[in-house]
Order: sequence, then structure tokens, then C-alpha cells
Amino acid sequence: MAEEKRQFQAEVGKLLDIVVHSLYSNKEIFLRELISNASDSCDRLRYAAVTEPDLLAGDADFQIRLVPDKDAGTLTIADNGLGMSHDELIANLGTIAKSGTAEFLGRLTGDAKKDVSLIGQFGVGFYSAFMVAEQVTVVSRKAGEAKGWRWSSDGKGEFTVAEVPEAARGAAITLTLREADKEFLDPFRLKAIVKRYSDHIAIPVRLKDGEADEAINSASALWTRPKAEITAEQYKEFYHHVAHAFDEPWATLHYKAEGAIEYTGLLFVPSSKPFDIFHPDRKQHVKLYVRRVFITDDCEELLPPYLRFVRGVVDSQDLPLNVSREMLQHNPVLAKIRTGLVKRVLGELKKKAEDAEGGYAAFWDAFGAVLKEGIYEDYERRDEILDLCRFRSTAGDGLVTLAEYVGRMKDGQEAIYTITGDDLAALRQSPQLEGFVAKGVEVLLLTDPIDEFWVSAVGKYKAGDREIEFRSVAAAGADLGKVQAPEGADKAKADEAPADELTILIEALKQALGEKVKDVRASERLTESAVCLVAAEGEMSMHLEKLLRAHGQTDKERPRILEINPRHRLIKGLAARVKTAGTGPEIEDAAALLLDQARIVEGEPPADPVAFARRVVAVMERGLV
Ligand code: ADP
Repeated sequence: MAEEKRQFQAEVGKLLDIVVHSLYSNKEIFLRELISNASDSCDRLRYAAVTEPDLLAGDADFQIRLVPDKDAGTLTIADNGLGMSHDELIANLGTIAKSGTAEFLGRLTGDAKKDVSLIGQFGVGFYSAFMVAEQVTVVSRKAGEAKGWRWSSDGKGEFTVAEVPEAARGAAITLTLREADKEFLDPFRLKAIVKRYSDHIAIPVRLKDGEADEAINSASALWTRPKAEITAEQYKEFYHHVAHAFDEPWATLHYKAEGAIEYTGLLFVPSSKPFDIFHPDRKQHVKLYVRRVFITDDCEELLPPYLRFVRGVVDSQDLPLNVSREMLQHNPVLAKIRTGLVKRVLGELKKKAEDAEGGYAAFWDAFGAVLKEGIYEDYERRDEILDLCRFRSTAGDGLVTLAEYVGRMKDGQEAIYTITGDDLAALRQSPQLEGFVAKGVEVLLLTDPIDEFWVSAVGKYKAGDREIEFRSVAAAGADLGKVQAPEGADKAKADEAPADELTILIEALKQALGEKVKDVRASERLTESAVCLVAAEGEMSMHLEKLLRAHGQTDKERPRILEINPRHRLIKGLAARVKTAGTGPEIEDAAALLLDQARIVEGEPPADPVAFARRVVAVMERGLV
């Protein structure tokens, strides 16, 4: 077959551009990336051969070889792993299959400095070869296949693929190094890099230096070594390898479970949020090994989705080596491992949360929204997870725990009050909070989309022997009457519009607004604003409705309750006016404007912007004449 010429997928083109022009002050990590890929490929073949030994064709001696060639100016990284077929070469090295890539690339700014840190969360893997190479050639033969293929590219938009008659099993990646990057031909340099980044790889890495050919890593799986012998640096490098990550691990957990079920866990919590953490597949990312043989990096049973930020490996003593995908489902051994892992991870989080130096706020900022999914998905551990949660609240700028909140509850306060929205600053200004703030009742300010779901699903928080309900302020205005106000803060009845005038005004507003509102009533909660919109008891909050509309899950807009502040000058004025002058266009305009501005404060546009503008002008004109 003749050589085929192909274009990189547009996303790859963009990524390559960034790789070549702005990436990494430490170019040497290209070697770690290629060695990682080679080691993953050997792992995959070793596992495939458990059920299909013929794939090995007698060669089970897995290794990765580095071959620098000074004369040719090339460095080759060769493995005898699974290799890639013709189609896999094209798909794996010509496109980016990672979900969310397009969205991720859209976030890049073109500003090299900012992009570099973003790209760190994404990982460029194979493409990092182009940091040091002007030409990359991959010769690969997939285990079990006869033909080999050569993939080649200068990283400028196109690559070629051609058949090669003779090819060793696995993949050999040959980099034609740029003039400035010839240092990567130096055996000492290569040894140092491997020692630094890839020492823990379980497959031997060998360096060919002239006639000499020696293993340059220790090739024992890191997690099998005693903790005391492993340095922080080695843990970090292993994390980078296993997670394909670039940041520091925020937490490292290494332990051996002994007893009924035996396994070793080496787990990490990243310090920065992976770009795809909110992808709908919610996949977990811990790799499963059985007695040091890699089994899968796609075992959903290992950890629940709400811990999908955890990275690392679990190595089981009890599962059979030839465990199949089907056997992994509903497997009692795995179920026990999972329980153990969840307990350890939550235990570690608790420990870090209690340690003032533990940097828990940074963890919370990155992964709090993920962990919160556990509040309603893991019923048994709900209270434990709630205690790990941190919240913004009206009590200040910092993060608070539920225990702290409960400790500050006022006499007569029945519930933990919450308000949901998408912007913290806007929530702090919400008229719905006014009465709560005036009475010194703390309100949790919830801005993660997930908050809408757990608050309504969870119901209660267990504080000692009490169970305290979560309640949205939007549906809890009446509660305020039961809370003792601080001295002088209680608005006197005398400040209000007279009851008879108020009744007439409310009637007039109802008339004018008709179906647009569910009800109009006097408010307990408002102290500063004239009006606000609230949900009826048991009804979906406005914020949730907005989220659902944004996701096309509802197109309905439910009418809300318009609350008016009987102590507000405007409301008192209107009430007096309606009593003496009756209704008319003026009241109709006022009613429509009050509703529209209550909507605007909630982040909704006026229902009819043109009518809104006309009314504003009319009212301003009346004020002038
Ligand atoms: P990642 O490793 O994060 O998936 P890469 O860009 O490094 O991303 O690699 C893309 C894919 O190419 C890998 O997932 C793997 O399927 C394939 N690949 C890369 N290197 C090798 C190799 N040495 N042997 C076999 N397959 C490889």
C-alpha cells in the first residue's frame, strides 16, 4: 500500500501549536510521557495475554529500550507491548479522543503563560514529543497481527502512514531531535531523567549506549515497596505517571489492607481540578491491578463517582488474574475493596480538614462540588460527608462547617437556611436575605449547581441528637416571625402601611398582574427592598427552574409569589394612593414594574423588555411634570 497522507484533527493542530511554541520550561518530561505510554502498552498486553497467551508469541520479557543515535541525531523509545494497528495509529495519534477537548481548547487564551498552566491539567502525552523533535516517526506492529505500520509527522498539520514489511511487536518512537535539543542524546542525561521521573515504572527501562545495554530504573512497582523507603519526590513522580498529571498531589495515601480482603492502595488527591471533572460520564480513575498485573483503568466498581477526583492504583491479592470485565461487575471482593477505599479516602479528608495547615480550603475549592454529590448518592455516609462539606454564608467571607452553623443558631430558629444561585456576590445582595440578616439568622449561600439537588433530597442534618432540616429562604419567610430579633431590630407594626390600605393594594396588584404571579402578599423578610419574588412552599426554586431551562429539561416558567414590603416608603405611598384614587393605569404600571424589577434582581430579564422600557419612561415623565 502506498503512503497515505492525512490531516490532524483541528484540535490536535491547535495543541501541537501550543506544544511547540509555548510549552514547558522543562522539556525533558517528553521522555516521561513516552515511557509512560510504553509502560501502559506493556501492561495492556500482559493482561490481554492472560486469556490469549498466543499474543505473546513467546516473548513475555517486557521492556522499554532507549536508543540514542548520535550520528543520525535521533532518539528511539521502543517497547514490546501491545502496539497499534493501522486504524489505531490514525485514531490515537491523529485525533484527541479525550472528551471535552474542544471545550477545553476554547478556554485557552493565546497567552502562553496562562495556557501553560491550563495545559498542565489536560496533559499532552504523546504530542510532547514535538517539544524536542522536528520529526517523529512511530513504527508499530500490533500483537497478533502480521503487518507493521509507519506513522510519521513534522507536527505541522499532516502525518503520513505507510505499511512496513518488517516490524517488531509494540511501538518504536523515533525522534529526530532539533539542533537545540541534542542534549537528549547524552546517555548521562537520559539516565538522570529516567531516574528522576520513571524509576518506579514496573517494566525495565534499558539504555543502549554504544555496546553497553543496561537497565536504568529499579523496575519494581512503587506501591509494593515499604512506605519508609519511598521519598515524597518518588510519590510525586508516580502520581504524575499514573494520573498523567502535572500538578503536586494534595494528598497521598499508601496502605496495605490485611485481613479478610488483602490489597494495597496507593491513592492521590490532585491539587488542581482536572479539566474534565464535570464530564457527564463521571468515570472514576483508579487503576486496578491483580498481584502486580495491570487489569484495567476502567473499573467503575472501584470507587463511587463522587470520589472521581482520586487517582492511583489498587493491587488486589484476592481477585483471579484472568478476571474478566463481566466478573468485575457485582463482584463481592471488589465491593469490599470499594468500601475500604471510600472509608480511607473520607478518613484522610477528615484528617486534612481538621489540620489547620492541611490546605483543606484549596481541596474544597477544587473538588467540593464533586464530593457533595455523595451527600445524596451515598446514603450511609451522608452525615460523614456533610461534615466534610464547607459553605459560604452570610456570617462572613470564610468557609463554615455545618457544626459551626448549628452552634450559631438563634433561639427559635428551626432550620438551617439556604439560598441558591449562580453568583456569590449576587446572592449576598438578594432581597430574600434581608429579614434573615436583620434578625442575625445565618444563611448558607449555595452556588454549585449540585446544591439544588442535595438540599432538597437530604432533608436533615444530624447534630448530636438533633435532626435539623435544611430549608430554602425562598420558602421560609414565615419562619422569621418565630425568631427573636436582636434589640431594636424588630420593625414595629407602626412602621407599616395601615392594614386596610395594604389589603386594597394587594388586591389591586393581584388584579393587575393576574396569571403572572401565583400570589401577592405582605412580606416578613424584607427590610430594605420594596418587593421580592419567592417560591411557594414545596415548589421548585427559581434557580433550579433556571438550571433546568438552560439544560432544555423544562420550558415552563412557573408563576411566583410577589412579596411586598409593608414598611417600604414606596409601598406605603402606593397603598395610600390606591385607597383614595382607586386603580388605573398608574397602578397597573407600578404593578408591572415591581414584578419586573423583582425578576431582574433574581437574574431574570423582564418578561417583556419593550413594555418594561415604556413603563420606566412613563413613570419618569410623571415624576417630572
Ligand atoms: P494518553 O496516554 O493520555 O491517552 P497520548 O497522547 O499519550 O494520550 O496517547 C494517545 C494514545 O495513543 C494512547 O491512549 C494509546 O492508546 C496510544 N499510544 C501511545 N503510545 C503508545 C505506545 N507506545 N504503544 C501503544 N499505544 C500507544
